[in-house]
Parts: sequence; structure tokens; C-alpha cells
Amino acid sequence: MEEKLKQLKARLREVDNLQSAVAVLNWDQSTYMPPGGAPARGRQMATLSRLAQEKFTDPAIGQLLDELEPYAQELPYDSDQASLIRVTRRDYELALKVPPTFTAEFHEHTALSYNVWAEARPADDFARVQPYLQKNLDLSRQLADFYPGYEHIADPLINYSDYGMKVATIRPLFGELRDRLVPLVEAITAQQETDDGILHRAYPEDKQLEFGRRVIKRYGYDFERGRQDKTHHPFMTKFALDDVRITTRVQKNNLNEALFSTLHEAGHALYELGIDPALEATPLATGTSAGVHESQSRLWENQVGRSMPFWRHFYPQLQDMFPDQLHSVDLDDFYAAINKVQRSLIRTDADEVTYNLHVMLRFELELQLLEGELAVADLPEAWHERYQMDLGVRSHDDRNGVLQDVHWFAGSVGGAFQGYTLGNILAALFFAKALEAHPQIVDEMVNGNFDTLHRWLRQNIYCHGSKFTTSELVQRVTGGSLTIDPYLDYLRTKFGELYEL
Ligand code: ZN
Repeated sequence: MEEKLKQLKARLREVDNLQSAVAVLNWDQSTYMPPGGAPARGRQMATLSRLAQEKFTDPAIGQLLDELEPYAQELPYDSDQASLIRVTRRDYELALKVPPTFTAEFHEHTALSYNVWAEARPADDFARVQPYLQKNLDLSRQLADFYPGYEHIADPLINYSDYGMKVATIRPLFGELRDRLVPLVEAITAQQETDDGILHRAYPEDKQLEFGRRVIKRYGYDFERGRQDKTHHPFMTKFALDDVRITTRVQKNNLNEALFSTLHEAGHALYELGIDPALEATPLATGTSAGVHESQSRLWENQVGRSMPFWRHFYPQLQDMFPDQLHSVDLDDFYAAINKVQRSLIRTDADEVTYNLHVMLRFELELQLLEGELAVADLPEAWHERYQMDLGVRSHDDRNGVLQDVHWFAGSVGGAFQGYTLGNILAALFFAKALEAHPQIVDEMVNGNFDTLHRWLRQNIYCHGSKFTTSELVQRVTGGSLTIDPYLDYLRTKFGELYEL
């Protein structure tokens, strides 16, 4: 059995090598590649992805898994070996269901659709991208149909990113969250609007980057095992457990942009960097789901990075770095500015309180599209109506309406948005648990020390990689199931104080 396990790991390592090479090419494409490299890069990544897929779905892997199954049964559920066999089996069977010809067609179409969207958005031209979105929706339905027996057509798509989650569990959770968020938004926006003009003064770009790097070093991001580069849409990527990179973008007149995207992506990176090295180059060596991953980026960005204890430590340093812009601004005003709540049109700029309303309306709309209840042609207007209803604002164009997010145009319709809100809910759940175990975390933050928090996250979440599903992990960490209560408590306490509710 030891020998068979070795063989399985050797095969999985080859798959991982190919996937990591794709990640390097992708990182380069988004950071340094000249535009002329695009067509060749597309071909190179397609070839490597296909090889990785072929190697992973090789019947020899299925054979090894069959032979190892009895061995796995005798081992503890959470052991490295049993987890490897279980999770590889799950991914293997998911991958086998989809014919390679479909995968190729899907990737080819979404690449095309992405390019059309990238032109249609600035031109505010939904009609141009509409047929591509229609085909994307048709392909997403087909993709779901490769997994017959689902309860809801979106379930197989959700399963890809948040394994084990489904519409029947997410819908009631989101419904409850929405019902409890809307009154909070109403109470806050009835107050006088916060002035956040100080964040939009001129901040030299190199100093913004330097400050962000200083903070994430304190978080524990290791520049010997990672680096930060500039890009258009910030992301984190991993080539190996000792090479986890982040990207950011800087705007001279917006202090939020580089700083909070840096804290966010560093949170994703700390998760990957904290995975047990014994799991390297296997399907276990990655975060367990979109929701849990997002919980870590949001935790370091918001629960930590937008908190008062954090800024008690870092604000004097920020003032030293930008004396002309901030020396006359006191900490309370700065704190209020970075936590300003407002009804707005753009998801990625939204504050912590309204953010989920943006996400949940997208989730509902994509379900309606998949169910056939909403026609693609009617989507822009449905979008405006939902914004009016949920956020009380209406865009006068589609550029800041349905065209603002890339997801539906460059991937499947369904399966991507729920992770953002699940992440916010999970971030509060995990953070509350960490504070319960180690109340000194707050005092440490005031001293710019994040060691206890980071260690707790590593031991309870990061080290496991994807051994456990989201609900298994929640059960292990909290002793219960997923609940929105800690998240609402967090928002009510923080914003109740800020807005004197
Ligand atoms: Zn993220």
C-alpha cells in the first residue's frame, strides 16, 4: 500500500507541476507580459491545462484510488493519507464527468466572451455582449447537466467552488442575512454622511506600496516565500507552498485601493503559506473552498485591517509617512472615513455593511437565469430594479450596472458569487472563535503584533489545506454549524458605535 500511495503521489505531483506552470504563465500575463504575447500565451496555457487534465483523469489514477480505498478505511478520517485518498477521489470523479471536448469549448467560449466584455463595458454596450452571455448561460446549464440528480441546477456549479454547499442551504441563510442587514443599512444611511475626502488627497504611489508591505510583514507575510507586483485586478496566486504571490493596484487619489487590496490578498496568501508542507503538490495543498478562502482575505482586511486596535498602532506611522495629507486628521476621523457606509453602485467599492447586498442580488439573479425565470435580454433592467429595491440606487447605464463584474462573462453563470458572502459570514465566525480562545489578540493588535491570531488560524484552519469541507471545518473549529449570528453581532457592534445607533 505504501508503494501504491507513492505512485499516486508521483502522478499527482506531475499534475501539480503542470498546473503550477499554468499559474506562472497566468501571473506573468497579468503583470509583466507585453500585449503582443497574448495570443501565444493563450495557446501555451491551453496546452498545459489540457495535459494536466489528461494526466489527472488517467484511468491509472482511478485504479490506484480503487486499490487504496480499503487502506484509507482503516486510517483516521483526518489523517494525511485518508484525506488524500478521499479528496483525490472526489476531485477525480468530478473531473471525469465532464467530456474534454466540452471543457475545451467552454474555455474557448469564455476567453472570447471575456474579450468582448472587456470592450463592451467601457462602451456601455450590453447588446454587444448579450449573445455571448446567452451562450455562456447555455454552456453553464450543460455543465450542470453533466451531474444529474441535482436538486437545483446551480448546485453542481456551486459545488466546484464551495464543495458541499447548495442552493437549498444558501438561500435561507442569505434571506435571513438580507432581512437583518436592510434595517441596519437604513438606520446608518439615515444619519449624516461621513466625509471621507481625506482618503482622496494625493498620496504618492511608492509610499502607499511601502506602507502596505510594512503592514503585511507584521501580519506574517514572508517575502522570502512571496512577492508583490502591480496588476489591473488584484489577485493571489500560488506556484508552490513556498512561493505564494500577491498583486495590487495603486491610485494616487485613493488611499483605500492599494492598502486594503494588499491586506486582502495577503490574507489569501497567509492561508496558502500556512498549509502543512507534508501536503505539498497534492490536491490537499490548497484552501478548501472559495468561501473559506474569502473568509481569510476578509478577516485580515476587515476584522483586523479596518479595526480601531489595528489603527491605534499603525495610524501614527501612516501620519509619519504622509504628514502633509494626514497630520491634522485625528484617528477617529480617519477610522470613520475608512469605514464609511453608503448606498452605492459598485460591489468592489462597497463597505462592510452594504457589500453583501451587492453579492446576494447577483446570486438571486444568476439563479433566475439558470432556472429560466429570467431572460438574458431582461437582465439589465432586472439588475436596475434589484439595485433600486435592495440598495435604493439606480445606475443610469449598464457599465456600472450589469457589466461591472467579469464573472458571468468569463466563467460559468452560477457558482462564483456565493463565496463572497459565505466568506464574510465565516470570517466573523472564525474571528469570534479566535478571540474567545485568546482575548489578548486585541491588545496585541494595538502593539502591531498578530502572532497569536496568525498561529491560531494556522493551527485551526490553514494547516489542513483542503482536508475538510467547509462544513466539516466549521464543525471542527466552532463545534457547531454555519451561522450568521457572529457576523451580525460584529457589524452591529462596530457600526453601532461608529454611527451611534
Ligand atoms: Zn478575495
